[in-house]
Amino acid sequence: MKKIEEQLQQHNIRPTAMRMLVYQFIKSITSAVSLTVVENYFEKSDRTTLYRTLKTFEEKGVVHQIDDGTGIPKYALCQHEHYLEKHNDLHLHFHCTKCNETVCLTDYQIPQISLPDNFIPEDINMLVKGICDQCNI
Ligand SMILES: [Zn+2]
Ligand SMILES: [Zn+2]
Repeated sequence: MKKIEEQLQQHNIRPTAMRMLVYQFIKSITSAVSLTVVENYFEKSDRTTLYRTLKTFEEKGVVHQIDDGTGIPKYALCQHEHYLEKHNDLHLHFHCTKCNETVCLTDYQIPQISLPDNFIPEDINMLVKGICDQCNI
C-alpha cells in the first residue's frame, strides 16, 4: 500500500483509504473502466464518493478520460512517469466491438497532424474500433 500512497501524494492527492482502493482497482485492470464498473466493484461504497474520486484523479492527472464512442466515459491510468510534466496522453485508444473493452495503446502515439492556419489544437482523441487480440482467435 505504501507505493500507492506515494503515487497519490506525487499528484497532490491526499491518500485516503477509499482513494487508495480505487487507484489499486483501476491499476489492476488492463482495460479502461467506467464509473459503473467502479460502482459495481465497490458496491458498499457511496456512489458520490466514487464519482468524486474519479473526478479528482482526472483533475490531478492520475487518470485520463476516454471517449470510446459508446457514450459512457471510461477512465484509465495515465502512464507518464514524471508527474510534473504537462499532462500528455497522446496515444491511440482501441475499442473492441466484440468484448466492448477499451484499452490504451500507450506505445502507439497519435501521428502528427496538420491544421489550417490559426487553428490551435488543445486536445486530440484518436480511437480505433475493431477486434482486439483477445477476441481475434
Ligand atoms: Zn475484444
Ligand atoms: Zn489512454
